[in-house]
Amino acid sequence: MKGKTILIVEDEPSIAEVVSLYLKRADFKVHHAGDGLAAMAYLEKHIPDLIVMDIMLPELDGFGITRWLRERSQVPIIMLTSRRDEIDRITGLELGADDYVVKPFSPQELVSRVRAVLRRAAQTEIETPAAQPVSSGGLSIDPLSRSVTLDGEDLTLTAKEFELLYLIASHPNQVFNRNQLLDRVWGESEYIDPSTVTVHVRRLREKIEDDPSSPTRLITVWGVGYKFVP
Ligand code: CA
Repeated sequence: MKGKTILIVEDEPSIAEVVSLYLKRADFKVHHAGDGLAAMAYLEKHIPDLIVMDIMLPELDGFGITRWLRERSQVPIIMLTSRRDEIDRITGLELGADDYVVKPFSPQELVSRVRAVLRRAAQTEIETPAAQPVSSGGLSIDPLSRSVTLDGEDLTLTAKEFELLYLIASHPNQVFNRNQLLDRVWGESEYIDPSTVTVHVRRLREKIEDDPSSPTRLITVWGVGYKFVP
């Protein structure tokens, strides 16, 4: 989860500052917009990994931004509401916010919510039923039935091996580093040993490579991570 970009949309400098501080300490990259228009200007050019958004903002409020944004992106949104009014929370969630936090809140709690929403988003991405099958040089991966065949033969993969293979194979030639793979495949459990990825890659190679010691599909990019070569 390290290095993910969070956009904070908050007009109150003291709150924006404290939230930025805690998120940066948790190794997130943080961008701050002080009003609705600044947020839109940023979002026209960048899509962050998550948005923490105040509802009451000058120019354009958090509901307006969410409505506008949901037509173009499913980026996770956590709303900050200073009102006790339940209507605000319901409106926010109906418009497509993923979670809300009521002011005043503990910054540490907000960081936990951010992590939880990001984990959920990563999970949804992997499990999305619209996921397309991948077929490459005799290897076929079907995300719906979660089955893998090699030259017509069924392969038996564990759940994590399958998720890892599908994630990499559905993004051919894209290099994934270990942290990205840990986040997206093991996101639910915080304290996984990073060597878990290495072990799973080795097991996958034994199953999908003709010669696991000189792989042609699941390639190591030295010093960076792994990629799938179709
Ligand atoms: Ca405000």
